[in-house]
Amino acid sequence: MAKADLLDYEKALELYEPVLGFEVHVELNTKTKMFCGCANEFGSGANTNTCPTCLGLPGGMPQVNEKAIESSIRLGLALGCDIAESSRFARKNYFYPDLAKNFQTSQYDEPIAHDGSLTIELENGREITVEIERAHMEEDAGKLTHVGGATGRIQGADYSLVDFNRGGVPLVEIVTKIIEGAEADAPEVGRTYVRAIRDIVKALGVSNARMEEGNVRCDANVSLRRRGTTELGTRTETKNVNSLRSIERAVRYEIQRQAAILEAGGTIVQETRHWHEDTGTTSAGRPKSDADDYRYFPEPDLVPVAPSREWVEELRGTLPEQPAARRKRLTAEWGFTALEFQDVANADLLDEVEATIAAGATPAAARKWWTGEIARLANAQNVPAGTLVSPQHVAELAGLVDAGTLTDRLARQVLEGVIAGEGRPQEVVDARGLAVVSDDGALIAAIDEALAAQPDVLAKIRDGKVQAAGAVIGAVMKAMRGQADAARVRELVLERAGSAE
Ligand SMILES: [Zn+2]
Repeated sequence: MAKADLLDYEKALELYEPVLGFEVHVELNTKTKMFCGCANEFGSGANTNTCPTCLGLPGGMPQVNEKAIESSIRLGLALGCDIAESSRFARKNYFYPDLAKNFQTSQYDEPIAHDGSLTIELENGREITVEIERAHMEEDAGKLTHVGGATGRIQGADYSLVDFNRGGVPLVEIVTKIIEGAEADAPEVGRTYVRAIRDIVKALGVSNARMEEGNVRCDANVSLRRRGTTELGTRTETKNVNSLRSIERAVRYEIQRQAAILEAGGTIVQETRHWHEDTGTTSAGRPKSDADDYRYFPEPDLVPVAPSREWVEELRGTLPEQPAARRKRLTAEWGFTALEFQDVANADLLDEVEATIAAGATPAAARKWWTGEIARLANAQNVPAGTLVSPQHVAELAGLVDAGTLTDRLARQVLEGVIAGEGRPQEVVDARGLAVVSDDGALIAAIDEALAAQPDVLAKIRDGKVQAAGAVIGAVMKAMRGQADAARVRELVLERAGSAE
């Protein structure tokens, strides 16, 4: 649906209540796959990390990855879930070319974790508790690449390639109960919830948590309920949205799209939908009924997973500080305003800023560098800011500014040098000769020369028109190639103009 045909967002909210639900897939960072010894590795040569078991060849025999169980339990605990005394794997039968086994080993009626909750805080301070229905273990499918079309999608492609390296990679799927009452905040609820999950799995260390590599992917369920009625509307499921901003946009788009259809007297089709980042729209995928028959049955080759209570409690003891609690603690420690903190958090720079402060920078300086110049350079290169420069180097850079060795302008040049691999900040200062000229002798020589060249300015300053000094200061800064402290130059200019009487 073209953007122009959508119903106005406020109008949609006035007529309908959005009801949400999210399924988040988290790819675990175990060394090996879920049921075999193949490497769980991103970026290997196509189909090199495969074996008879993950390819579903005759004679393959799965074995559960203990580390994956451990990670799933820890994740379940962090989400406040109960850990099942006994849980089972099941075969989910369907045919698709990226699924060599023709069934996905998943969990069905006996998930490892169930009945948790996660409280998220929106930017306006509103808190929403999202109920978690279940978190279950399963394996990922392979990856299809469609070649020859304009869009990279299957439509219009000449042929498709399949890479089974991802087939059998351990996943945890976290399923929420329906979320009501989000109202106009619905898109932000989606973004904030998925960010909270991502922050948790990152803090737990159970996933690389890189959304751009698909480590955390979200299926967003959206339906609309007409005001004044109690019946749930028909939902759509927008699949595999893999950036926080896209989740927010996709939820918003679906609310406006569905409202437009309903207002025109149409009906919503229960289906999966694809999200298109470029156009900011969704398009129809496949119809999806609640009664899709996957012919689930217990996986006969795997025994039930029955973690001992002692082990579960032991794992509970390994849980790190909850990201939400950490945010509260850091806000207090750093003394930022809510807005300043949000700036850092939204840019995903909490770790970097914390490490920079630990390396000796003030909170204000750490925030300024990461959310300012470094974020700008990272954006320009389209890479995460944390990959450009280390917190230690940022702290060193901030220290050089504090010590008066560098002005902000010079520091930005030094930063570029550090990013270009020219060494630590001090090394770049030395190699490029970028330090502030703090030698008054050199400054005075340049000032006297500038004053002599502009006798009219000199006369004005002596007349008490101090603002005229700007022209001389400018000339001196230029002569110093910007490597002078402008405040000190001004002081000296006034002093020299006075002493020349
Ligand atoms: Zn394998």
